Amino acid sequence: DERIVIVGAGQAGGELAAGLRKQGYPGRIVLLGDEPHPPYQRPPLSKGFLLGKVALAELYLKPLATYERFDIELRLGARVEAIDRTTRALALQDGSRLSYDKLVLATGGRARRLPLPGLPRAPIENLFSVRSIADIEAMRAKFVAGNRLVLVGGGYVGLEVAAVAVQLGLRVTVLEAAPRLLARVTGPEVSTFIEQLHHERGVDFRLACEVQGLELDEAGCQVRAVRIVRHGIPEQIDADLVLVGIGLVPNTELASAAGLAVDDGIVVDEYACTSDPAILAIGDCANQPSAFAGGRLRLESVPNAIEHARVAAATLMGKREPSAAIPWFWSDQYGLKLQMVGLSAGYEQCVTRGSAGGKEFSAFYLKDNRILAADVLGRPAEFMAAKRLVASRAQVDVTRLGDAAVPLASLAA
Ligand code: FAD
Repeated sequence: DERIVIVGAGQAGGELAAGLRKQGYPGRIVLLGDEPHPPYQRPPLSKGFLLGKVALAELYLKPLATYERFDIELRLGARVEAIDRTTRALALQDGSRLSYDKLVLATGGRARRLPLPGLPRAPIENLFSVRSIADIEAMRAKFVAGNRLVLVGGGYVGLEVAAVAVQLGLRVTVLEAAPRLLARVTGPEVSTFIEQLHHERGVDFRLACEVQGLELDEAGCQVRAVRIVRHGIPEQIDADLVLVGIGLVPNTELASAAGLAVDDGIVVDEYACTSDPAILAIGDCANQPSAFAGGRLRLESVPNAIEHARVAAATLMGKREPSAAIPWFWSDQYGLKLQMVGLSAGYEQCVTRGSAGGKEFSAFYLKDNRILAADVLGRPAEFMAAKRLVASRAQVDVTRLGDAAVPLASLAA
């Protein structure tokens, strides 16, 4: 029997394993994951799961019985240490070997660590990151009313945690190196809107600040405060817990040690194949060509993991179905749905609909009157139309676009 081995039982790996069976793949499918859980959704980790509104079992993409029914050999707590491309075999941490005919790397990424020299090697008990169920379970006991949370990094995931923390009665300070929130991914109008959203609920911000160090207790086990410098002025922010949300490092070590091309992710072609035709890579760990972007991209989103799994399943079934997907992403903060589509890099004009001062608005990023990207904040009914405008790179009448009374759908030429 031909055997496909998938390394990484996350969103992309789980989708791929099931997708292969649904397409009628007749051979063996082995899905290896180093976490103790079957494939699960990460988005609720920083939202409903941390808030206590979503139970553990609700995170799982599929009940365990489904893997049995699909004849998928799901091995949990199984960490792959090395790939031997010559013999087409994997070395696992438990000392065993597993051969493959086709290998798929779906290894995701890990939270970036604070680049501070002199941090002790031993784990600091109240210093956390948000990537896995284990991370959330570790921090839960500290998420109690009155505790002071210092969040390093004001990205979407960090801001979701801030929103949950506020709802649970914690006092929250967000430290951000850039002069505005989400500066890399969105325009100033949206940054201001989101800052206000949090500020009104009591979140403190220190923008344009540099984290200089952590004040530890005498035993070196607990952070007591975070030392920052802002506009040349040093400040110390007291903390009961510190959460670091400064991005993701793709898990590419297996690939690079095996001599595969790696450049901000495992380099794949439009069919999800790496530089070795027997090995594919998908999801957060993969750097892929994007027809939409006109270049290469590494995306970190559920829609991308699902689409990339679809492309890989087609390739493994002997079909060629490159992705035509448009990058999109969502976030939830205080019950407000934020939906982002397209890539705003290089935009020349931002047109807003609705009121940025109010509870909801949309921002469109244009170049030569063509829509490159949109951020739809609290107006979910508008999102599908916005997505279509971005997909078609529609040329629009800017005045009509900015008039919330003109239906978006009527703007597409
Ligand atoms: P992962 O889901 O990370 O899975 C990779 C798996 O591989 C992990 O279980 C890892 O432990 C395992 N692994 C790695 N190396 C090995 C090895 N050597 N051996 C065995 N196993 C290994 N996206 C959205 O679109 N919307 C959101 O609102 C959103 N919110 C998010 C909130 C949080 C807190 C986080 C962490 C992510 C969020 N994302 C969101 C991003 C989204 O969850 C990821 O893009 C998605 O999970 C990527 O799937 P993946 O399969 O590529 O990686």
